[in-house]
Parts: sequence; structure tokens; C-alpha cells
Amino acid sequence: SEGIGRRSEQLSREAFDEAKKYLPGGVNSPVRAFKSVGLTPMYIDHGVGSHVFDIDGNEFIDYVASWGPLIMGHAHPEVVKALLDATVKGTSFGAPTLIETKMAKLVAERVPSIDIVRMVNSGTEATMSAIRLARGYTGRNKIMKFEGSYHGHADSLLIKAGSGVATLGLPDSPGVPEGTAINTITVPYNDLESVELAFKRYGEEIAGVIVEPIAGNMGVVPPQRGFLDGLRSLTTQYGSLLIFDEVMTGFRVDLNCAQGRFGITPDLTCLGKVIGGGLPVGAYGGKKEIMEQIAPSGPIYQAGTLSGNPLAMTAGYTTLSLLTPEVYDRLEALSARLEAGFTVNAKEKGIPCTINRVGSMVCPFFTDHAVINYDVAKSSDLDLFRRYFAAMVEQGVNIAPSQFEGMFVSGVHTEADIDATIEAQRRALQSL
Ligand code: PMP
Repeated sequence: SEGIGRRSEQLSREAFDEAKKYLPGGVNSPVRAFKSVGLTPMYIDHGVGSHVFDIDGNEFIDYVASWGPLIMGHAHPEVVKALLDATVKGTSFGAPTLIETKMAKLVAERVPSIDIVRMVNSGTEATMSAIRLARGYTGRNKIMKFEGSYHGHADSLLIKAGSGVATLGLPDSPGVPEGTAINTITVPYNDLESVELAFKRYGEEIAGVIVEPIAGNMGVVPPQRGFLDGLRSLTTQYGSLLIFDEVMTGFRVDLNCAQGRFGITPDLTCLGKVIGGGLPVGAYGGKKEIMEQIAPSGPIYQAGTLSGNPLAMTAGYTTLSLLTPEVYDRLEALSARLEAGFTVNAKEKGIPCTINRVGSMVCPFFTDHAVINYDVAKSSDLDLFRRYFAAMVEQGVNIAPSQFEGMFVSGVHTEADIDATIEAQRRALQSL
């Protein structure tokens, strides 16, 4: 398409200058300020399917997808229609509505580990609440997490975190009390031996292990064979809960989430992103016996004024209803095509590049090492990434402005989109 690419950024620059007067760093979430790449963020005006349009009139093929939720693209007609119908009936009641049970039932049917699920408003709330539940249920205080994983911004999970924390180089955020930090044990991803050592040392104190079953916040890093299995057996052996943070992977990599794809059932599962269909939703769920510890059926408190509100549930339910096995086949085919094209491009230009991909989560790292954990991810050529990002935007491809984030292919990307992206990447690499 003719309008693809960034021709002008004047209006975005003015908008950003104005925003910086009233919002910290000009934004409501750090990475979107483009600080680490030293550019002006594009202010989005609207999105249609797989494309976004900024206020300067530039058009981009979009692989950010609102950082994962928009698996069926922007403004999907069925989601928009359902939302309009729900909106005219009122936006929130703080009283039970039928759509909440419909949504919970669908999630319970599709997610192997979930019998009962509580809806919240973000991934952060989901993981924070799951951690509280694990602590309350086991009567233990320590939790284990992996270096370079991101589980939202709750205090105990901000230790050695990925995503924006990694992008901005803020591994231990000020404001997290020492007393909280000492209860978080961090070990390298894919390193079962370290997990085992930590269990030998702290076994009886560990309430749970929280893991992204496919890491998506240090770039995309798949679990090595045996890693998730090992976590399952060690947590069982020590009476800790295994918590899958599927905020990113849930319904992204499989109709039954990563746990269905790999055949490993955690005790608790956190969801977000896709299940909200672009509205603010998170969820956590598990077996009845554990979930019934949550108030009002049990003593562990967690609540929310807007939790389960009809707009969020409608967008989420409609999106999940669109996700058929055929959609996942299509995501796999499109993403494999993208990966193959990128592989050829890097080889042609002689640029060291390792592409990690699971389904529609795709991540080219500028390194020739196998990226199996955060240390290797960090050894990628981050300066090259910055220049690559600028060139991709110039060529009309919207990707996340960080080596530590993946690309998300959607079910409404076309083969023409994919081929145009491969060609744009070829030109971007050429220009470096
Ligand atoms: N967990 C994972 C795996 C995530 O990727 C994210 C967000 N990127 C979160 C938790 C936090 O979700 P939210 O931004 O909705 O609070």
C-alpha cells in the first residue's frame, strides 16, 4: 500500500511535548515513550485490522497489537458491534451480570488448570492476587521467579524483571521494601538445576513458583525440553504451587493456552491481554479447592470496583469466541512465513540473528547464540536493535521499541502483509 511508512512526525512531536507537561515521561506506561530508542512515539489515531494510522497520517503494519491483546486485529467488526450493543445498556453496575458467568465458563472449558476463575482489570492484578493466594493457601512467604521475566509491577515481582524494566535498565525499582525483596528468589530461566538448589535451600518456605511458560518479556524465549516438567515435579515434591503466568501466552499460542500446548497443568493460571480483547481485563484461576480460599467463599481478600464489568467481559468473550482451531493454524502459517523471510534477510545481509518463535510470538535477536535465558538475550547487539527499530518504523512496520519484546502476528494479517513486512525488513537491514 502506498501510504506505508513514516513520512512526517510533526504532529506526534507536538502531542508528545504537550503530554510531557502532564504525564510522567509523557506516557501512562514507560516503554511506549520510545526513550530507549531515542525517537518520538507515534500518536495513534486509529487502527483497522492489522494496520494502525498515526495522527500525522502515516500508516503502519502493526505487530505490537496493543502489546498482545489484539489477536484478531484492531476494531474487529464483531467486537465493535458487541461493544456498542453492551455500551448502550450501561457501562458498569458493580452487580453481577450474566456475561461474567458466560465468560468464566468459557475460560474454565478452555484452560486445563482452571475450574474457577476470578476476573480482575490487568495482568498485574492477576499475578499479584495469585501470589497472595499462593501465600495464603500454603502459609509460606517466599516466591520464586525467573530473571528477565515480567509479571506486572507488584512489589514482590519487580525483582530482576523483564519488559520495560529490562528496556530501561531498572532491575531493582526504588520503592520496593527490602522486606519484600528478600522473599523473592530469582533464578535463570530454563535452569532447572538452580531451581532445584533453591528448593533444597528454601523448600519449606516457598509458596509458589511463578513462570511464563513461554517467556515473552526478555524477547521470546521458549521453555527447553523438560523445564516446565521439572518445575511441575519440584513444586509438587515441595508442596509449593506452580503458577503459570499466561498473561501473554494465554489464548495467544493455543486454544488451550501454553499449558494445553505443552500438556503441563499448573496449580494456578494468570491471564490477561487476549482475554480482554483490548479492554482492561486480567484473571486468575485454578482448582476449586484453592480458588475457594478467595473472598467471599474464603478468607483471602481481593476485590475490584470495575472487575468483570460488562464492556470488558463483552470484548473478551467476543474475542475468545472468534478463536477457532483454524485461526491458530493460520497464525502458525503466517508466523512461519514471517520467520522464514526474516531468516533469509539476515543471512543475505550477513547480520547475526537468532529468531525465536512459538506460534504467533516472533522475536529476532541480534546475536548468533541460542537465546535460552535473559543473560543471552542481553548479549544481543542492542545498539543495532535501536537502529533497526528506527529503520523498521521508517519502512512502515510497527514493532515494539525494545529487543526484549516480541512481535505479535494476528489472525487478520494477510499474506500480503507478511510479504510486505519481509520486504520492508530487507530494506531496513540494508539501510543499517
Ligand atoms: N505478566 C506477563 C507475562 C506480561 O507480559 C504482562 C504485561 N506485559 C503482565 C504480567 C502485566 O500485565 P498488565 O500490563 O496488564 O498489568
